[in-house]
Amino acid sequence: MRTPVIAGNWKMHKNVNEAIDFFSAFRDRGNREGVETVICAPFPALPALTEEAKGSRIGLGAQNMHWEEEGAFTGEVSPTMLKALPIDYVIIGHSERRIHFAESDEMVRLKTRSALDHGLTPIVCVGETLEEREAEQTREVVRRQVVAAIRGLSSDGVTRLILAYEPVWAIGSGKSATAEDADEVIRFVRKTVADQYDQQVANEVRILYGGSVKPANIDSFLAMGEIDGALVGGASLDPESFARLVEAA
Ligand code: 13P
Repeated sequence: MRTPVIAGNWKMHKNVNEAIDFFSAFRDRGNREGVETVICAPFPALPALTEEAKGSRIGLGAQNMHWEEEGAFTGEVSPTMLKALPIDYVIIGHSERRIHFAESDEMVRLKTRSALDHGLTPIVCVGETLEEREAEQTREVVRRQVVAAIRGLSSDGVTRLILAYEPVWAIGSGKSATAEDADEVIRFVRKTVADQYDQQVANEVRILYGGSVKPANIDSFLAMGEIDGALVGGASLDPESFARLVEAA
C-alpha cells in the first residue's frame, strides 16, 4: 500500500511570521496518521517551521536546491544545508522553475540524484504545457521528463522519490484536469517507471496530481486508483482549506 501524500507548495508566499501563524492554526488538524503531510515553504521560513513542527507528523520541504554540497553558486542552497535544519523533502523541477529559471531535464536529474544521496525525499514535477497538450504531445513530454529525472538511479532510490504530474495549464488557473485524465496520465507515468526499472518498483512510487486542487475537487482525485495524493499551490496557503485536503486523504 502506498501512503497518500498531501504536499503544499507555498511558492513565493508567506514571510516567517505568516508561516508561524499558519502553523499555529494548522498544526492540530494537519497532524494525522495514515497520510504524509508536507509543507514546502520559502527558505527564510524553514528554520522557524522546524521548531513549530517538532513533535508532529507534519513534514517540511524546500521548493528547490542546488545539487552540489557547497561552492561558488551565489544565491543557491545546498542539500546539506537543508538536511542540517533538518528538513526532509524538496520539490525538484517544478514547471515554474523550468519556465522562469531555465531548469533543464539534466539539472532536474542532477538535483533528484543529489537529494536522494543526501537522504532528502525529492518531489519531482513533470507535466505538459497547453501548447504541448493541444499538439497531443502529453505522453511524449511526460515520458521524456520522467526518464531524464530517474536515469541512473538505483531501484531503491526510485522507490523513495515522489513524482508529481502537474499539467502546466492547470496550475493556478482554476482549471484542473479531470480526475480521469489525470489518472490516465499518471498510469502512463507509472508505466514509464516500470519500463525503465520493473513493475514492482513502479508499484511502490507515489505519484501525485497537482493543478488547482482544492477541497471541492480533492475527493475525485483521491478516488482514482493511480493517484496517490496531491501537490497543492493556492489552496495550501489557507490553514482551513489545507486541513480539509489533508482530512480528505
Ligand atoms: P495551484 O494548486 O495553485 O494550481 O498550484 C499547483 C502547483 O503548482 C503546486 O506545485
